[in-house]
Amino acid sequence: MTEKRQFRAIKGTRDILPPDSALWNWFERTAREVFETYGFAEIRLPIFEETEVFARAIGAETDVVGKEMFTFPDPSLLDDGRFVSGWQKLKELAIAYDPGRDTMTAEMREQILSQSRVWALAAHTSILWSLEDAVKNLSSLRPEATASVARAYIEHGMHTLPGNVKLYYAGPMFRRERPQKGRYRQFYQVGAEVLGHSDAPSIDAEVLEMLLVLFGRVGLTNTRLYVNSIGCKDCRPKYVELLRTELQKVKDELGPDSQRRIETNPLRVLDSKLPEEQPIIETLPRISDHLCADCREHFAKLKDELKLRGIAYEENWRLVRGLDYYTRTTFEVTAAGLGSQNAVCGGGRYDGLVELLGGPPTKGIGFAIGTDRAILSIQEGSNLPKLPGLAVYVAWMGAKTYPTAVAIARKLRECGLGVELPPEEMKFKKSLGLADKLGARYALIIGEDEVASGTYTLKRLADADQKKLNENDLLEYLESERRSG
Ligand code: ATP
Ligand code: MG
Repeated sequence: MTEKRQFRAIKGTRDILPPDSALWNWFERTAREVFETYGFAEIRLPIFEETEVFARAIGAETDVVGKEMFTFPDPSLLDDGRFVSGWQKLKELAIAYDPGRDTMTAEMREQILSQSRVWALAAHTSILWSLEDAVKNLSSLRPEATASVARAYIEHGMHTLPGNVKLYYAGPMFRRERPQKGRYRQFYQVGAEVLGHSDAPSIDAEVLEMLLVLFGRVGLTNTRLYVNSIGCKDCRPKYVELLRTELQKVKDELGPDSQRRIETNPLRVLDSKLPEEQPIIETLPRISDHLCADCREHFAKLKDELKLRGIAYEENWRLVRGLDYYTRTTFEVTAAGLGSQNAVCGGGRYDGLVELLGGPPTKGIGFAIGTDRAILSIQEGSNLPKLPGLAVYVAWMGAKTYPTAVAIARKLRECGLGVELPPEEMKFKKSLGLADKLGARYALIIGEDEVASGTYTLKRLADADQKKLNENDLLEYLESERRSG
């Protein structure tokens, strides 16, 4: 007998249900609309890529690549038939198991033989493969999308396209982090990237303008924009060395994470939120004092451009971002109502990323909005949009009215109205009760009298106001109501 089990979504993943899903769709739709007015077009990317794409682009020493990726030996990368009939072969292995020679234990063997379903999956991975094969053929669920955009830019020779290449994307990302409010293992981002020959600060400023226009449109008004410049491949390494030297001097006063980062990634120490480390970090050398002339000029021009566009910002010298590919401009936007997970958007310039992945010299800048957090903040705020829900509930009574109900429901739907047509006849009171519970704005009452006289009774459920209308007037009235929201 099959074991009775209640299945649940895996830790860190969740279902987005109605009515929230309508808010999500509206948010993403608004992002598309705004981005398209700035000349961006959508790129749809794979959900998984060769692990190497992320490892190279984001950096092997970063938290994202080092600890947070969902990585798996990927059979689709092996095309020479070594992989066929995985579990059959595994079973053979188990049968031929030699306790003196193999690392497989007797229990493992038993399990293989008894639970072939589970082990069939394992057979797709390292057990069947040599370790070498498994490691050579790793894929990862994408933890972010910029690396994939850069990979696609190269793969499709987009550097030959006229002007800057402006792309946006929306979809799920995956990181193995500790789930909490605003932090999930499957989360969603909407992001945009500009790739091309120019690194003009006006591009950075326009990208920021577009981001803030979107936040304004969706009612995320309690936001703060933080900007910084983290230098380029010429000036940053010198600063990082200086920082490392200074950090060595105060090493004993730092916690274990920061101590480790002195070696692996000193910039990340600036990210520390530990209260006891704050006074020490405040005394460290600041990158703004160590930028090369070009980077200094770039940053100054960016700030001029932001002023020109009336964009309020704060400089934050400790904003270093967690991904290795950033150069010069980095930024973050925080929003209200999110507790400690208050960053709704992160981004910056990544000149050199395309080259790192084997492409031509290319400049780039982009951002990623955390959709989960943006939605949370909108829900906590006071600017929740009124989204069109169910407009009309068609309360038909008597089998003779059904054909009229079917026909009018279709016409109303053609006008773009949300319509609920009860599939079976219901008692009048029960029917109107359901209309209320479903949150319909109107009930359209169709009884035999109405059919005979060619009119409809339209009842506004909020205040029980009733009108008798013929079909034309009804359609006209509801249309104009829909247009005015
Ligand atoms: P954080 O410091 O909060 O971990 P991050 O610097 O790792 O963020 P980015 O890689 O810059 O984040 O991603 C951009 C945005 O994506 C973040 O500002 C955040 O809104 C969102 N985000 C990142 N990780 C998660 C997650 N695990 N769950 C939900 N949203 C996330
Ligand atoms: Mg993170």
